[in-house]
Amino acid sequence: MTFPPLREELRGIAPYGAPQLDVPVQLNVNENPYGPSQSVVDDVAASVAAATTALNRYPDREFTELRTALAAYLNSSGGSGITPDQVWAANGSNEVMLQLLQAFGGPGRTAVSFAPTYSMYPEYARDAMTGWVVGHRESDFSLDLDAARALVLEERPTVVLLPSPNNPTGTALPPEAVSTLCAAAGDGIVVVDEAYGEFRRSGTPSALELLATHRNLVVTRTMSKAFALAGARVGYLAAAPEICDAIRVVRLPYHLSAVTQATALAALRHAAELLGRVDDLRAERDETVRWLREQGLEVADSDANFALFGRFEDRHAVWQGLLDRGVLIRETGPDGWLRVSIGTADEMAAFRQALTQVRKELS
Ligand code: PMP
Repeated sequence: MTFPPLREELRGIAPYGAPQLDVPVQLNVNENPYGPSQSVVDDVAASVAAATTALNRYPDREFTELRTALAAYLNSSGGSGITPDQVWAANGSNEVMLQLLQAFGGPGRTAVSFAPTYSMYPEYARDAMTGWVVGHRESDFSLDLDAARALVLEERPTVVLLPSPNNPTGTALPPEAVSTLCAAAGDGIVVVDEAYGEFRRSGTPSALELLATHRNLVVTRTMSKAFALAGARVGYLAAAPEICDAIRVVRLPYHLSAVTQATALAALRHAAELLGRVDDLRAERDETVRWLREQGLEVADSDANFALFGRFEDRHAVWQGLLDRGVLIRETGPDGWLRVSIGTADEMAAFRQALTQVRKELS
C-alpha cells in the first residue's frame, strides 16, 4: 500500500473546482452578481450576533424554524401545501445531494443521469460508492423521453438525477418528463435539481407542482443562486416526509451550524429584496442569448442564469483570450462550447466587447 492510503479509485483525481481568479469580470460559477443591501447585511449581522451568544451550545439539530421558513418560501415559489416535515436542508445543495446518494445509493445500487450535465453528479455517486450510469441528451440538449424511460427501466436505479434547468446547458424539463420518469423509477427516487429554478422562463413550471402526486419525487433548491447567498452555503429539498426522515440517518449530527441557520433565516426574511434582481438577470440572460445568436454563434435555450454557447474549434483559446481581457468564463460542457454566467449589465457589456475582440483576433 502507498501512503497516504487513499481509496484506489480516488488516486490521481484532481479535486473538483473552477479556477478562483481575482479578475475584474467573474462570470464562471453562476453566482448572482448582486451583493446584499445594507439592510440585509445589518439584519444578517444582528441575527448572527444573537446566535453567537449561544455558541457554547449545539444548534437545533432539526433546524425546525428554518424548515418552516423554507416551506413557506417554497409555497410562494411554485409549490403548494408543502409542510416543514417535507423540507430538508444542508450546507449547499451539493451536501443535500451527497446525503441523498448516501441514503438511497450505495454499493450494488445505481444512480442515473443524462449528459451533458452537472459534473459533480458522478462525484457524489463515487463518494457514496454507487454505480453511475449516464444516458445522453439530444443535440439540442433536451431529453429523448422514450430513451430515458427505457434506460431507467433497464438499469432500475435507486436514484435518478434530473437537473432542471440543467447545468451547463440551461435546459429545463417539461413536467411530463418528470412524471414519466417518476413512474418508471418505481420505488427509486427521482431528484429534480432546481438549483436554477427561480430563473425559469415564464411558462416553464417547477417540479414542485408534482410533489403531491409523486411520492418518489425530490425537488432540490439552493440559496446560492437566485437568493445571492452562495457564501452562506445553504441548499434544501422538498419531498415526502419519509424521504426527509430517512436522510436523518446519514446526516452528521448538527450539520447546519447555528450561524448558518441564523443567516439563512435572516435572508429568508428579506426574500423579496434578495430575489428582486432575478427578473433583471432573466432579461439580461435573454439579451445575452439574443446577442450571441446575432453574432452567428450557437446558443442553447436557457432557463438559468447562464448561457452555453459555441461552437469553437479551439474553445480554450477563446476562454484564454477573454481571461487576458479580464473576463473569466467557464470552459465546460461538450467540446467546442463555453458557458458564461449572467452578470450585471456592465459585466455583460465587458463580456460582449472582449468576445468580439477575441473572435476578431482568432479569425
Ligand atoms: N446543482 C447544480 C445543477 C449546480 O449547478 C450547483 C452549483 N453550481 C449545485 C447543484 C450546487 O450548488 P450549492 O451547493 O451552492 O447549493
